[in-house]
Amino acid sequence: VSTAMTMKGTRTEEEQEALALSQAELKKQSMQEVRRSLPIFPYREDLLAAINQHQILVIEGETGSGKTTQIPQYLLEDGYTKGGMKIGCTQPRRVAAMSVASRVAQEMSVKLGNEVGYSIRFEDCTSERTVLKYMTDGMLLREFLTEPDLASYSVVIIDEAHERTLHTDILFGLIKDIARFRSDLKVLVASATLDTERFSCFFDDAPVFRIPGRRFPVDIFYTKAPEADYLEACVVSVLQIHVTQPTGDVLVFLTGQEEIETCCELLQERCRRLGSKIAELLVLPIYANLPSDMQAKIFNPTPPGARKVVVATNIAETSLTIDGIIYVIDPGFCKQKSYNARTGMESLIVTPCSRASANQRAGRAGRVAAGKCFRLYTAWAFKHEMEETTVPEIQRTNLGNVVLLLKSLGINDLIHFDFMDPPPHETLVLALEQLYALGALNHLGELTKLGRRMAELPVDPMLSKMVLASEQYKCSEEVLTIAAMLSVNNSIFYRPKDKVVHADNARMNFVVPGGDHLVLLNVYTQGVTAGYFYHTARLNKGGYKTVKHQQTVYVHPNSSLFEEQPRWLIYHELVFTTKEFMRQVIEIDSGWLLEVAPHYYKSKELEDSSSKKMPRKQGKAKEELGQ
Ligand code: ADP
Ligand code: MG
Repeated sequence: VSTAMTMKGTRTEEEQEALALSQAELKKQSMQEVRRSLPIFPYREDLLAAINQHQILVIEGETGSGKTTQIPQYLLEDGYTKGGMKIGCTQPRRVAAMSVASRVAQEMSVKLGNEVGYSIRFEDCTSERTVLKYMTDGMLLREFLTEPDLASYSVVIIDEAHERTLHTDILFGLIKDIARFRSDLKVLVASATLDTERFSCFFDDAPVFRIPGRRFPVDIFYTKAPEADYLEACVVSVLQIHVTQPTGDVLVFLTGQEEIETCCELLQERCRRLGSKIAELLVLPIYANLPSDMQAKIFNPTPPGARKVVVATNIAETSLTIDGIIYVIDPGFCKQKSYNARTGMESLIVTPCSRASANQRAGRAGRVAAGKCFRLYTAWAFKHEMEETTVPEIQRTNLGNVVLLLKSLGINDLIHFDFMDPPPHETLVLALEQLYALGALNHLGELTKLGRRMAELPVDPMLSKMVLASEQYKCSEEVLTIAAMLSVNNSIFYRPKDKVVHADNARMNFVVPGGDHLVLLNVYTQGVTAGYFYHTARLNKGGYKTVKHQQTVYVHPNSSLFEEQPRWLIYHELVFTTKEFMRQVIEIDSGWLLEVAPHYYKSKELEDSSSKKMPRKQGKAKEELGQ
């Protein structure tokens, strides 16, 4: 320490500056070396030639080969951004868009947000100077509203195409359409090694450019019998690997934040108990809602002698590449959205992942050396219980949002829209019905003035209606705050497992009587109702029933109304975890429903048949209609 101090003391300012510069130069050089070592690098010239020759090109390459970080840079180096034209690259996941943009900015030694930027919902990290723009697929979709021919782009890369998210699928149709009259636009469809023939076929037999991967063999192990508790099985497997296997990092796939936190906590606790008997184990979570400084930690190199274990959602399946992984633990599940078009219920359910996913996961173990994948299910289950591929999101989600967007782009005939895989007919019809009920479409299915305004807001139709209706009720400011809170996906109440009590106490400080829309409740009255009249539930024998479909639902235990159980509720969303839970609920007066949605509710539906069983609250005697 003392030498360093004397050295520092004797260094002049200029010397220090020079040193910092040369260190930056070194870092830059080593980054350039990494760039040249990627599997895509030897194909740089061929790839650029193919792009030059064809308007639409499908690019297939193993995860980690350099598609996302390198191709936009190659294009920039080749002059595609001349005159300020942009290269856009879409990602299905927000985390990936941010992390990849930040990596590319580093590689190019520019400040993130200048030449290289990203744009995700509610966060725009781009500027006038931005020419490489990473963004979520949903954001590019919204750009069609302001720039229907994407005139400011010279190249659009639809990346992670194999994920087949709703927005990516809609982009396929729209981009195929504009490519016909924008002959100067280059379209690249990049995908992991999955399904590329289908993309080629959809884009009128566009050629497929294959980047040969460098893949090491991965040994796959199955369990002899199904695991009763896959979370516990994961923890045990990690520790077994840690004490019995040679060095190399571990990647565990779980389905969501809660599982990931539990798993990390268990691992840390058991390591603490084992103390110095075992080598250091660095436990790092990664999921979409994790604060970004913590996300970045997974990329730090593992110190010698230690082992890193990354516990991830399927974001690590193909979107992010973590170097150094030798062992993969795959319980074989993922959280999937599913949609019941009959009841309008959207739910997130933990389901077995597809064989394609399982194979991608295993592949993560063979990037730097021969690896091992431990599947916590039987070989029989792999063969007989898993689907071949994942069903595209468009076939299992509510379409309200995209239908509104397509309508505002002037696409009226949705039945004949060029879908790669069309959504179920009932889902389309339900979306149209819902938009009609909200007043966004008229009886001919045409966009109304209100509908046009709703489409401009990047939120679900019910939320945008709520915001717009608040004008009439003079409570826009409050409603906007609530809308903002509802749009952040529960991440306001960050609830780390080790500080649950703290977090819950902190949350309790915000609770006011009446509902989850918290402090703002007093004003969250009829203006809300105007957007969410669709989502009404009535107390019924200890649970709730949705008014339209008589579906039994429950108040989420985290809700401030969990114990109160008011008679009429509006909920923000339904999620299926252990039960059908309503999340973010608020008490309403059933009379409001008739006021804001006379076309939707008949007074008969709102009569209360079970009133005698109700716990009564003072001053609330006139809740039912007809009294
Ligand atoms: P692909 O899109 O083909 O899956 P990427 O371009 O995402 O590949 O990644 C190529 C390589 O760049 C990775 O193998 C990794 O070495 C490096 N890399 C990518 N993102 C990061 C990051 N955020 N931090 C550090 N290295 C990264
Ligand atoms: Mg990629």
